Amino acid sequence: MLRSPNRQRLPVPGVRARRRSEDTTVTSSPETRPTRTGPRPPRREAAQRGQGQWALGYREPLNPNERMKKDADGLTVRQRILDTYQHTGFDGIDPSDLRGRMRWMGLYTQRAQGIPGGKTAVLEPEELEDSYFMLRVRIDGGQLSSDQLRVVGGISTEFGRDVADVTDRQNVQLHWIRIEDVPEIWRRLESVGLSTTEACGDTPRTMLNCPLAGVLEDEVVDATGVLAQTVEKYLGNPEFSNLPRKWKTSMSGCVDHCTGHEINDVSFVGVRTADGEVGYDLWVGGGLSTNPMLAQRVGVFVRPEEVTEVWAACTSVFRDYGYRRQRNRARLKFLVADWGPERFRQVLQDEYLHRALPDGPPPAPPQHDQRDHVGVMRQKDGRNALGFALRTGRTSGTLLARVAELADEHGAGRIRTTAQQKLVVLDVPDERVEPLVTALAELDLQVRPSAFRRGTMACTGLEFCKLAIVETKQHAQDLYAELEKRLPDFDTPLSINVNGCPNACARFQTADIGFKGSMVRDDSGEMVEGFQVHLGGHLGVEAAFGRKFRGHKVTKAETADYCERVLRGYVERREDGEGFAA
Ligand code: SF4
Repeated sequence: MLRSPNRQRLPVPGVRARRRSEDTTVTSSPETRPTRTGPRPPRREAAQRGQGQWALGYREPLNPNERMKKDADGLTVRQRILDTYQHTGFDGIDPSDLRGRMRWMGLYTQRAQGIPGGKTAVLEPEELEDSYFMLRVRIDGGQLSSDQLRVVGGISTEFGRDVADVTDRQNVQLHWIRIEDVPEIWRRLESVGLSTTEACGDTPRTMLNCPLAGVLEDEVVDATGVLAQTVEKYLGNPEFSNLPRKWKTSMSGCVDHCTGHEINDVSFVGVRTADGEVGYDLWVGGGLSTNPMLAQRVGVFVRPEEVTEVWAACTSVFRDYGYRRQRNRARLKFLVADWGPERFRQVLQDEYLHRALPDGPPPAPPQHDQRDHVGVMRQKDGRNALGFALRTGRTSGTLLARVAELADEHGAGRIRTTAQQKLVVLDVPDERVEPLVTALAELDLQVRPSAFRRGTMACTGLEFCKLAIVETKQHAQDLYAELEKRLPDFDTPLSINVNGCPNACARFQTADIGFKGSMVRDDSGEMVEGFQVHLGGHLGVEAAFGRKFRGHKVTKAETADYCERVLRGYVERREDGEGFAA
C-alpha cells in the first residue's frame, strides 16, 4: 500500500510487490532494458557515476522522481485509473500517482483558483491544487481530421467547461477534467485514433512536424511517414517509458524550420545532398527552461528509412547515459554540453547502431522571416492552406467544433495545429478562400492578423498552472489588443512570448520580446505580478537567446508601455529592411 498522509489509503495493484522484492517487473527498469552492446565504458567514466547514468552502473541513491519510476512504471497508472480511481474520485488517488505517474497519461493536477502568484513558492503542492486535472491530447505532427477535432471539441465542451488551449507543441490541452470522466474521455479519443498516452512525463512527448508536411511544393522532404512510423512503434512502448526526463522530438522537412529544431532534444531536419538525395540532418541537445541551450548538429546524414532506428538509438543513448541524479540536470542538453556532438555521434554509432552514418550537409537557412504558416499558402495540388491566429492559443470546444465544420464545408476536413499556437485548414479551393477567411473572421479567428496578434504566444500561466507566478493568457490578449491600438501601422514580423515563470513553456528566450513571469516591485514598493524582459531572441541563422537587460523588469500594468517604447525606438532607428531582431 502506498502511504498518503492526507488521502484515503488504497491498494495500488502491482506496486507493493515490487517494493518488497526490489526486483521489478517494470519493463523499462535498468535490469530489463534492452542490452546495450559495445565496448565497456572507460575506467575514467567511473567518475561520472555520481550523475546517475544507468550505462555506468549507477543505481542509488535515487531522487524522488527516479524512485517513483522504479516503484512502478508510469504507464501502469492507466489501469489504476480504469480499475480504481474513476470510482474513488480525486481523494482516493495515491500521491505518487497523483503528482507523478498521472503525467504518463497526459494528466496534471490543476492550480486551485484564486491563489496569487506570490504564494507559489511557499505553498505545498497539495495546497496549490484543486481536484481537477489539465489533460493534454497528443496530436503528433499536428495532424487532425475534422472528426478528430469535433471529438476533442466535444470533450472540452462536455467535460472541460468549454476551455481548450492549442499549445506550442501542437497539442490541445483541456482543463477542469475530473478523474471520474477520464475513461469516457479516453474511449471517445481512441474511437477516432487519438490518445493522451505519454503526452507528459519522462517519455517521448508529442513529436513535432510541419503542419504543411506533404502539402507545400517547396518542402525539402515530407516527414509525415517517418514520424507516423516512429510513433506507431514507440508510443507507449515500455522500452522508453522511463527516460531521465522529458524527450522532445521534431521531424520536419519545412523550408522555414517551423518546428524549431534548435530547441528540441532530438531533431531530424530535412536536407538535400549535393547529389540531390533527400534525408535528414540530426540535431541533439536543445532545450529551454532555466538553462537554455541550442541543439547541436551531430553531422550525420540519415536516410528516411533509417529515421525510426536512429531516433530509437538516440533515445537509448539518453535513457542509458542521461543524468538521473539531479532532476534539474537530467535533460539531454546537459549530456551533450559535456560530451560535445562528436562523442555523442561516436557512442550512437559504436554502441547502438553498430555502423557509421555518413556525413551530411547542414540545413539551408529558413526561407521566410516567420515560421508560423499564418495566411493563405498555395498547395502543390493547386488548392490552398489557410493558417489563422487564435487568441494566444486559447479557444473553446465550441469553437473547435465550428472549425471542424468549416474545414468540411470549405476544404476536405483536414486541420493542422502549429508549434506557434495556431491552426491551419488545408485543401481549400481558390473560390472558397475568401468565404473561409470571412467565416473564420466572424469567429474572431484571423487569417490576416496584426503583427502583434500573430506574433504573441502565451503559456498556461497562473490560471491553471501550479508553477506559475503570473497570469498570462488574458494578459497577452490584452497586450496585443492594446498594441494594435497604439501602433496601428506596425507591420514588421515580431514575436512576443509571455511566460508565467522561468520554465519557458512559451519560449521567452527565443522571442524578440520575451516576458518571464516573476514578482517585481512596483512604484510604491509593493511586490506585484510582473516580468523580467529578455530582448532580441531568435532561431534560424545565428540563432541566439534574448538578452536579459539589467533593470528591464516591468509590472503587468507596465508591459504595454514598455513594448510601445521599445517598438517606437526600433521604428525610429531601423534602416531599410532591418528586422526587429537585427
Ligand atoms: Fe506553467 Fe511556467 Fe510553463 Fe507557464 S512557463 S505553463 S507558468 S510552468
